Amino acid sequence: MKNGKQCKFILLTTITFLALSGLLFIQVLSSIRTARIAEQNFNHRVVMALKDSRDEIGRQIQINTSINNYLCGKTCAALERIKHREKLDSIIRSNLEIYNLPSNFKFTISETSNPENASGLFGTKCYQQTLNGLLEQSGIKIRLQFPDRNRFLMAEMTGTFIISILIILFVVWAFLFLLKQSKQRRIQMERTTAFVNNMLHELQTPLANIKLANSLITKNNGSNKTPEYTQIIKNEYEKIQSHVNNVLNLSCDQLNTKSKPLEINKLITDISNEFSYRINELKGEIKVHNYPYPLYTQTYNNQLFNVFNNLVDNAIKYSKEKPNINISIKKNKDQIEIEVSDLGIGISSANLPHIFDLYYRVNTGDIHNIKGFGIGLAYVKQVIENHKGKIKVKSELNKGTTFSITLPLNQ
Ligand code: ADP
Repeated sequence: MKNGKQCKFILLTTITFLALSGLLFIQVLSSIRTARIAEQNFNHRVVMALKDSRDEIGRQIQINTSINNYLCGKTCAALERIKHREKLDSIIRSNLEIYNLPSNFKFTISETSNPENASGLFGTKCYQQTLNGLLEQSGIKIRLQFPDRNRFLMAEMTGTFIISILIILFVVWAFLFLLKQSKQRRIQMERTTAFVNNMLHELQTPLANIKLANSLITKNNGSNKTPEYTQIIKNEYEKIQSHVNNVLNLSCDQLNTKSKPLEINKLITDISNEFSYRINELKGEIKVHNYPYPLYTQTYNNQLFNVFNNLVDNAIKYSKEKPNINISIKKNKDQIEIEVSDLGIGISSANLPHIFDLYYRVNTGDIHNIKGFGIGLAYVKQVIENHKGKIKVKSELNKGTTFSITLPLNQ
């Protein structure tokens, strides 16, 4: 069933991807076509403008033979040449303006044919207009070039081009976003399932022990072992209670409760004392570097106690042999900085960005006998942020881990 769903998902993703690629291809083709049409339209307008210029030059020649001399290359004074060139320039310019063409152009009047008439998409193009029939000499042509032709054409189609590019980018972004979301949801589902299985597994043993103790009490009613059996029931009940508390802690809502001041040196010393027995048993060490003066912050419902409890508990759990833990407390302007570091198994850089995610557990392979539900650090982060603080982690595989927490200082 799961495989069937996965297959459908992969199939749908592939089809959507192919459809999007198809759309993208069609869009690119249509952009090229639009560019070609824009170019054809431009060329057509230039031809029209040149024809109109020719007609106007014809009218000028009829009344001015000196222009005819100039155009046919006959000798004439330099001043004359400049005057006629300016005249032709203004005729061409005014006609280009009528057809909404660029005013930046170069023109020559000559009889040599120009083989460089490249006409590729947006290539350099030389436009020609013969003056045959107007002048004494035939074969003379006006040759026109626009140095900014490409820029002008691009500017003409920029609107449609930008809109189509934006639409394509949006569709691609939406597709990738949905893909990422669905991947994240799948990973979260897998983690939730692992968490539920894990938790059920953890509850099964105490429940079986309670059932067994209860049937022993019923069987040996009044026996001197009864206090031992009731103690088992109590211990197992406490285990279940602690698991339930861990989960309930996650949904704690501090906004409805009033905050109260908490002294950090004392909090850390209390936690270190609580763990010292367990750490001594493991022949490890915990060192606390208190700040020389009391440092107060605000807390809700003892939540900061749970936070440092979780961090020290993890530091012990994830130390291979003897736990070696250091906790330092410092003050930086209006912030309290607390560092909890260990020399344990560390976390690889690939896993590090995920450790604060709910239900996330690093796969420790052969040493996966370390118990946990992947909710401790998610809780820690949530509480620290609710207290307007920040948490950072640095870690190196097989070297150790340091959690740095900043909390606002009560002035
Ligand atoms: P849990 O310990 O129940 O698995 P946590 O949310 O407390 O869940 O931690 C998430 C993961 O981060 C753990 O599975 C562990 O791999 C990693 N981790 C947390 N603290 C440490 C630490 N001090 N050293 C090495 N790894 C750690």
